[in-house]
Amino acid sequence: MKILLASSNEHKRHEFSQLFAPHEILLPKDLGIRFDCEENGSTFQENAMIKARALFDVAHNLGYPVMADDSGLIVPALPGLLGLRTARFGSEDGGPLLSAHEKNQLLIRMLDGKTGDQRKATFVCAIVLMLDRYRIYCAQECAEGRILEQEVDGTGGFGYDPVFYCNEAGTSMALLPDGGKNLYSHRGKASRCILRMIG
Ligand code: IMP
Repeated sequence: MKILLASSNEHKRHEFSQLFAPHEILLPKDLGIRFDCEENGSTFQENAMIKARALFDVAHNLGYPVMADDSGLIVPALPGLLGLRTARFGSEDGGPLLSAHEKNQLLIRMLDGKTGDQRKATFVCAIVLMLDRYRIYCAQECAEGRILEQEVDGTGGFGYDPVFYCNEAGTSMALLPDGGKNLYSHRGKASRCILRMIG
């Protein structure tokens, strides 16, 4: 089937395409749909549901299942700075976002001098798949790790991956080969839950 993903992020399309193969992942822009919605929920799950419902409302006439994910990084040593605000880390509300590299550098600077448990971090991913208005599957998963002292020079993943050491993988997410990240990532685990539910 073709699944319409409530996102404009090509990195997410790439990961979901591998995870949901042979299903095809479409983005709203592929269909000429301008999609933007306010993520004002108080949890990742709520935000994923808000995005899924908003896209379903404008696109259900096309007949595709709609999927949304909301993800972010939790760093307990920096309470309130990431989590639901992960994309806006380091920027003013309503102001322009920092680049991924700028956010990673800021994160490294803010954790300067911190060691051990103070560098702990968790990636979280909530996914909502709407097969129809009242047929909704939700899953949330996470990947545990820590923030590295420096960005690694890998090409895998996106966003915070170059500064995230994944405990299960035993390396940075950005150093895993294409597809390898999905074995350990928050998005990979949540996607497999959804796939098991829909059989
Ligand atoms: P959102 O789910 O698109 O709202 O993403 C929130 C923030 O988390 C963005 O800054 C993303 O770059 C970051 N993020 C989400 N998933 C990942 C990931 O798998 N790796 C690295 N950064 C991620």
